[in-house]
Amino acid sequence: MIETRNPATGASLPSLQASTLAQVQREVATAAAAASSWWALGFEARADVARQFAARVRDDRAVADELARSISTEMGKPIRHARAEIANLHTRTEAFIERAREACQDEVGREGAIQVTTQWRPLGTVAVIAPWNFPISTPNNLVMSALLTGNSVVLKPSEFTPRSGALYHQLLAATLPAGVFGLVQGGGSVGRALVEADVDMVAFTGSIATGQAIMREAASAMKRLVLELGGKDPMIVLPGADLEAAARFAVHNSLNNSGQICVATERVFVHQDVQDAFVEQVRRLVSGYRIGDPLADDTDVGPMASEAQREIVLAQLADARERGADFVIEGAAQSPGYWLSPSVVRSVSDDMRIAREETFGPVVAISSYANVDEAVARANATRYGLGASVWGPPDASTDAVAERLEAGMIGINRGLSAAAGAPWVGWKMSGFGYTRSTAGMRNFMQPRTHARTVPSGQ
Ligand code: NAD
Repeated sequence: MIETRNPATGASLPSLQASTLAQVQREVATAAAAASSWWALGFEARADVARQFAARVRDDRAVADELARSISTEMGKPIRHARAEIANLHTRTEAFIERAREACQDEVGREGAIQVTTQWRPLGTVAVIAPWNFPISTPNNLVMSALLTGNSVVLKPSEFTPRSGALYHQLLAATLPAGVFGLVQGGGSVGRALVEADVDMVAFTGSIATGQAIMREAASAMKRLVLELGGKDPMIVLPGADLEAAARFAVHNSLNNSGQICVATERVFVHQDVQDAFVEQVRRLVSGYRIGDPLADDTDVGPMASEAQREIVLAQLADARERGADFVIEGAAQSPGYWLSPSVVRSVSDDMRIAREETFGPVVAISSYANVDEAVARANATRYGLGASVWGPPDASTDAVAERLEAGMIGINRGLSAAAGAPWVGWKMSGFGYTRSTAGMRNFMQPRTHARTVPSGQ
């Protein structure tokens, strides 16, 4: 059984049956049997299915509301943000369709008398394994990429958000031919069984440790992998930055979803000359945040998703306190439920756990630097490399700092974005392979070449 609790109250939610090994294998066999006819339908038919799903979640208020409430109830996200997660599905679908259409095009090249056609074909059946922090949009990114490129899919949602995963699966499966989209439920052991079943690819979003386990589990059959992993995103504030805009971003991107976002701002490096003014702006903004019932429309910060997640953050805060960090605002834990109010910490040093490990909690962690070389070196001194941002004068000097950062996605005087067909990508241990963009879609495909000799004169 899968047992979950409402993080706002600590009350048990109805339990759910986990999949058995036999059920995992059956779902995979069914999806594998449906794969070739799904590809044979052709790209436009697949795109129509994706559009039908996107239109349903946009136009049917009752459906969108049910999905949003399920997210809030299972992992504590404020309902406004849960609704935005659902609304975003429609916008993203069109972008996915355009990129997948390009990815599915064969390419013809010629060298002398040799003509080579590169065909792009689906890998077959893709296991999608998802985390709990965006219980619907994160799995949807991977599921849509796999389906639009002609693969069948078996999804395993997080064991913390199984009902949101089941609702999403039910809605999308209803628009698809039978068997193309399967579902299994459970924790790590069910995830492992899915990776070890007869799937051709694993598309995973989650922690580095689980990504490493999946790599090992997938090695025996060399299954294709896309792994979107954790982050420790730095933010560098240069002396000439618009401090108010920078402070607003630092606060929003540290506290949104209680900091439980892979591309949350986890380390703020502020030039020593503007540090005090910046910290004061941050303090003022955080004091205005409304903490409360995730189902209330005006809530900015809800509870954390689980007791375990809150324990990690509390341990990092205790370590920072012991090592001499300065608490501008000290977050307080409250029960029942997994409440932890926001903290603002300054004088964070690089040896603190809060500077080295993914926090995934409602903390604005600030330290100061004396010169740009130091800021860049400290920002890069991590095994993570997901996102980053640089705030400075809108000129080449700020771009030059961005150029030196070891991160897959960098925002310049704004947060990062994968808009306009850009990839969603991590550097170093924040990812292996990537998604979105035409090249990202092709990570779900196998190239196959056909060479022929062209008769002379043609
Ligand atoms: P997690 O790694 O604990 O779990 C993710 C999923 O993997 C769950 O469904 C879990 O049941 C499954 N799993 C666990 N062990 C497994 C195994 N041995 N084999 C197969 N599957 C297994 O991560 P989480 O706590 O759910 O999510 C938080 C993490 O996700 C954070 O590190 C965050 O940064 C990361 N994340 C990354 C992105 C991104 O785009 N890079 C996006 C969202 C979250």
